[in-house]
Amino acid sequence: MEVPQPSTKKKFKVGIPRALHFYRYFPFWKKILEELDAEIVISPLTNKKIVEEGVTHGFGELCIPVKIYYGQVIKLIEEHPDLDYIFVPRYVSETKDSYFCPKFLSLPDVIKILPGVPKILNFEVNVKEFPISAAAIELGSQLGKTQNQSLNAYREAQRYFDEYHEFLRNGASVNYALRLAERNRSFTLPKRKLTGDIKFLLLGHAYNIFDTFINLDFQKKLQDQGVEVITIENLPEFIFKKPVIVNPKGGKLRNYWRHEEEIMQSIRYFLTEGRDEIDGVIFLISFACGPDSLISELIMRDMKVVGLPFLEITMDEHSGEAGLLTRVESFVEMIRRKKRRKDLNQKQHLIIRSKQEV
Ligand code: SF4
Repeated sequence: MEVPQPSTKKKFKVGIPRALHFYRYFPFWKKILEELDAEIVISPLTNKKIVEEGVTHGFGELCIPVKIYYGQVIKLIEEHPDLDYIFVPRYVSETKDSYFCPKFLSLPDVIKILPGVPKILNFEVNVKEFPISAAAIELGSQLGKTQNQSLNAYREAQRYFDEYHEFLRNGASVNYALRLAERNRSFTLPKRKLTGDIKFLLLGHAYNIFDTFINLDFQKKLQDQGVEVITIENLPEFIFKKPVIVNPKGGKLRNYWRHEEEIMQSIRYFLTEGRDEIDGVIFLISFACGPDSLISELIMRDMKVVGLPFLEITMDEHSGEAGLLTRVESFVEMIRRKKRRKDLNQKQHLIIRSKQEV
C-alpha cells in the first residue's frame, strides 16, 4: 500500500469530524493518533450551517446524526484544505456478540464519495474478526509506523481511555471530560457538582445526548429546572456485564445492537435494584433511527410495569425550542408533584406508626 509522505511537514495532519462516535471514542482516537505522531484537528461544534450542509449532502431518510457527520466532514475540509487524511473509523463490532448500527459499518465508504475529501485514514474495529490491536497496527502502517510503535501507541491510548471512563464513572459529564481531553488537561472533577431535588437518567446515543446544538442543549434545560442528570456513561461497570434477554419466555432473544444493549442494561438496573435512585427517564432518539425505535417500545413496556415515569423525545433538524421546553417542563412538574405526594404519604404513615407505638 502506498504510504503518503509528509514532505516538508514534520507530521501528518489528520482531521477528525466532531460527530457520531466522536462523543464516545475521541479520547482514545486522540491519544493513539498523537502517539503515532499525527497532528490532529477537529471540526467545530455543530451549528446551523453545518446541519444545512449535512442535510444537502445526505439523502432524506437518513437520521440526523449521520447528516451532521456529513456536514462536519465538509466543514473540516473547508477549514483545513491541507489535511493529509480524514479519520473515518469503521465500527463493526466491539464485542463478540453485538454489532454497531449499519450506518457505522459503511461510514468510510459513503464519506469518500463526498466532494474534495482527502485520503481516508482507516481504523476498523471488528472484534468478531480480529482484535483491536490488529486494527491499531493497520492504522499505524498508514502513518508509516512499525508494528511495535503502533502497539505501544494502542496500549497508551487504551490506558488513557480507561482513565477517562473512570473519570466519567466518578460523576463527570461527557462534555466536560471531552473538553479536558481536547485541551490536554488532566481529569479533575469540577469544584461544584450540579445537583437537584429530582434525578433523571438521560438515555440515548452519545451523539444525541452530547451534541448540544441538535438536542437544543437539552441537558441544560433540565438542569435549569433543578433536575440532576445522569447518563449511562456515569453508571458503574457491573451494570454492563450481564446481557439482557429481551423475551425471557419465547426463545431467549438477545439484543444484538451494541449501544442499544447498553441502554437496555442500564434500564434493567433501574427497574430492579436501582429503582429508588432516579425519579424518571428521558430517552432522546433520532427520527428515522430503526434500532432506537425498537428498544423504545420495549423500554416503555417495562417502565409501565414498575411505574417509573418515562418520556421519549424524537429529534430531527426541524425540532423547535418552544415545543421541547413545554414537554420537558410538564414532565418535570408531573414528577415533582408525584414525588411530593409520595413524601407526604410516607410522612403520614410514619406519624400513624409512631402514634400506634405510643
Ligand atoms: S443508531 Fe440510529 S441514530 Fe445512530 S446512526 Fe444508526 S440509525 Fe442513526
